[in-house]
Amino acid sequence: MMEHALVHRERVGVQDFVLLEDFRSEAAFIDNLKKRFNENIIYTYIGNVLISVNPYKNLPIYTEEKTKLYFKKAFFEAPPHVFAIADNAYRSLVYEHREQCILISGESGSGKTEASKKVLEFIAARTNHLRNVETVKDKLLQSNPLLEAFGNAKTHRNDNSSRFGKYMDIQFNYEGAPEGGHILNYLLEKSRVVSQMAGERNFHIFYQLIAGADQELLKQLKLQGRPEAYKYTTDAASGQNQRNNDAAQFRLVQDAMKVIEIGQNEQEEIFQIVASVLHLGNAKFVQNEKGFAEILSHDANTGNVAELLKVNASKLREVLTNRTINARGDVVSTPLDLEQAQYARDALAKAIYDKHFSWLVSRLNASLAPQNKETQSSVIGILDIYGFEIFPKNSFEQFCINFCNEKLQQLFIQLTLKQEQEEYLREGIEWEPVEYFNNIVICDLIEARHTGIISILDDECLRPGDASDLSFLEKLNQKLEPHAHYKSHRSSDVKTQKTMGRDEFCLVHYAGEVTYNVRTFLEKNNDLLFRDIQSLMASSGNTIVASCFKDVNLTSKKRPETAITQFKNSLNELIKILSSKEPSYIRCIKPNDFKTPMQFDEKLVSHQVKYLGLMENLRVRRAGFAYRRTYETFLERYKCLSVDTWPNYKGAARDGVQKLVEVLNFEREEYRMGNTKIFIRFPKTLFETEDAFQIK
Ligand code: ADP
Ligand code: MG
Repeated sequence: MMEHALVHRERVGVQDFVLLEDFRSEAAFIDNLKKRFNENIIYTYIGNVLISVNPYKNLPIYTEEKTKLYFKKAFFEAPPHVFAIADNAYRSLVYEHREQCILISGESGSGKTEASKKVLEFIAARTNHLRNVETVKDKLLQSNPLLEAFGNAKTHRNDNSSRFGKYMDIQFNYEGAPEGGHILNYLLEKSRVVSQMAGERNFHIFYQLIAGADQELLKQLKLQGRPEAYKYTTDAASGQNQRNNDAAQFRLVQDAMKVIEIGQNEQEEIFQIVASVLHLGNAKFVQNEKGFAEILSHDANTGNVAELLKVNASKLREVLTNRTINARGDVVSTPLDLEQAQYARDALAKAIYDKHFSWLVSRLNASLAPQNKETQSSVIGILDIYGFEIFPKNSFEQFCINFCNEKLQQLFIQLTLKQEQEEYLREGIEWEPVEYFNNIVICDLIEARHTGIISILDDECLRPGDASDLSFLEKLNQKLEPHAHYKSHRSSDVKTQKTMGRDEFCLVHYAGEVTYNVRTFLEKNNDLLFRDIQSLMASSGNTIVASCFKDVNLTSKKRPETAITQFKNSLNELIKILSSKEPSYIRCIKPNDFKTPMQFDEKLVSHQVKYLGLMENLRVRRAGFAYRRTYETFLERYKCLSVDTWPNYKGAARDGVQKLVEVLNFEREEYRMGNTKIFIRFPKTLFETEDAFQIK
C-alpha cells in the first residue's frame, strides 16, 4: 500500500526545502534534515542546490543499480542524489554544449572529497557505452589515491582530511567521452610537515612509506621501519592496525603510480624526497663555544639527506647554520643561533615537500593531458576546497581560507542570480528582483588595491626596518576603521573593546564574525627561504628537487610575490574559470564531531547551516517561483487528475497543463506559464495537487 502523502512527508520530510511550509524557520529546516538523516536519507535539495549530510557509514545508495537510475533522468524524477547533479551536468555539457562546474563546499569532514569522487565515478560509469580509451578513466580515478597520499592527513575532524584545495577539470571529446583531465592545487598546509597537533598525523605518505616499503627500499632510503624514529612523525597513537593499513595503502599508491605512468626512476626520486624530509627533521644542532649552531661533520641525518638529494654534505650543514647576505656587492656570512638554525631547517623541509607536491600535480597533469591535442575538448570542473573556518584561535591560514570562501560566495551570488534571470528571460516570464545580502563589500575590504587588508599586509612585509605583526595591526586599524565589517580593540563599541585582544582584528564575514590573531602573519606571508639553501637545492642531483628550486630567480633584485598575493592571484584565476561555466552546488554538512553514524547534533548543524548561507539561499529561491517543471514532466505526473488529460491525451503538453491548472483551480498569482515550463510560486499549491494525486 502506498503511504499517504501527508504521513510520508511527516516521516521523511520534504525532498526539496522550497516545499517547507515555514521556509524562514531554521528550526524547521534542521528538523527536516534530521528526519531524513534518521531515515538514512542524506540528500535534500534547495532548488538545484544539493545538501548532503555525511552518514559516516556505507549506505547502499551508490550501487550499479542506483547509478543507472540516474542515467538521463531529469532532476526531479528520482530522489535527490549526488548522481543527479552529476548526470545533470553531464547532459547539459554534452547535449546543450554548456561547460559545467560542480562546486562542493562544507567544513572539514563533511564529505566533500567523497562527493567529488562519487561524481567522478558516476561519470566513468555514465560513459561506459562510449568508445573510450579506458586508460584515461583509470588515470582520472587513480589520481585521487595518489594525491590523497601526499596531500591528506589524519586530523581531529577527519581521518582522511584533504590539506589542500583542489579544482579538477574532466575534459570530454565531441562524443562525450572523457579524454583527459587537469588539476589545480591550492595552499597545501605545509606547516604540517614539521609539526602536528597531538593526536593528529603528518601527511599519509610518510607513514605509508615507512610501513609499506620492503627491506631493500628501506635500506636504500636509509629508513628505519618505525615512524617514532623521526621527529616529524612521532605519532604514538598509531597501533599495529594502523601500520597494516598504511602498508596496504602504500601498495595502492605504487599501483596508482603505475597507472599514472610514473616510472621506476621517478618513483625512486619521489621516495628519496619523502625520506630526506624525515632525515632532515632529525638533523642535530649543537651549540659551539660562541653560542652559534653547528652540525657535527659526522651527523648521519644530514649525511643521509645529502646522499639522497645528491648535494654536498658539508655545504648542506653550512647553509643550515649560516646565512649569507649580499650587501651592496659584499657577501657577508652570519652564523645562526640554535633557534634560527632550527627555523631554517624546518623552512627547508616545508619548502621541499610543498614544491614537490606541486611538482606531483603537474606530473599528474602531464599524464592526464588529452592524447589528441587538435580537437577542442569541453569540461566539467569539480571544486573541492576548504570550507569556512572559525576556530578558537584563527591565524593567517584561516584568513586565506575564509577570503577564498568570500570569493566563492560572491561567485555564487553572481552566478545563481544570473542563472535565475536567464531562465526567466528564456521562458518569457517577467523577472522580479530579490533582496539579498551582497558580500562584495567584504571582498573589497580584503582585496581592494592599495586600501585592502592584503595590500596593507604586503606593504608591511616589504617595509624595511621595524615592521612587525603589531605594526601591521596598527596600520589596519588606522586605515580601515570605522567599517561595518571590521573591528578591533579600538572600535567605538564598548563590548568589542573589552573582548578583543591587542593583537587581534575581527572580520564580519558573510558567514559570521571571525577574530584573527595577527601574530606570525608577516612571517607566514613572507615565507622566506634563505638564498643559499635555495641555490644548494637547485644544484641537487635529484632532478625533481633541482627543477622545483631552479625556477626561483636567485639573481633577481625583485622580491618574490608574498604568499597571500600568490593566493589572491590564483584565486582570481579560478574565479575567472568558474565564471565562464554553469555551476551546480553541493553543500556538505557534518552531523557530529565524533565521526560516528546516526548522531545528529542540532547545534553543530545549525552553525553549518549559517556558514553555508543556506537560509538565505532558500529565502532567495522562495522569493520567486520556487517550483518549476517542464510541461511534459508536469503532465506526465498529474495527467490522471483530469478527465481532459486522462487516460489518452494527444495534444500539446502546454495545453494539457493549462487544462490541468484550470481543473485544479490554481490562482492567477500562483503560477506562470513559461515557454517550456510551468512555474509555481508556493509549494502549498503543489502539495494540494500532490495530495489529490495520492488519494486518488
Ligand atoms: P571532507 O573532504 O569534507 O573533509 P571527506 O569527504 O574526506 O570530508 O569525508 C570524511 C569521511 O566521512 C570519509 O572518510 C568517510 O569515512 C565519511 N563519508 C563522507 N561522505 C560519505 C558518504 N557519502 N558515505 C559514507 N561515508 C562518507
Ligand atoms: Mg577533503
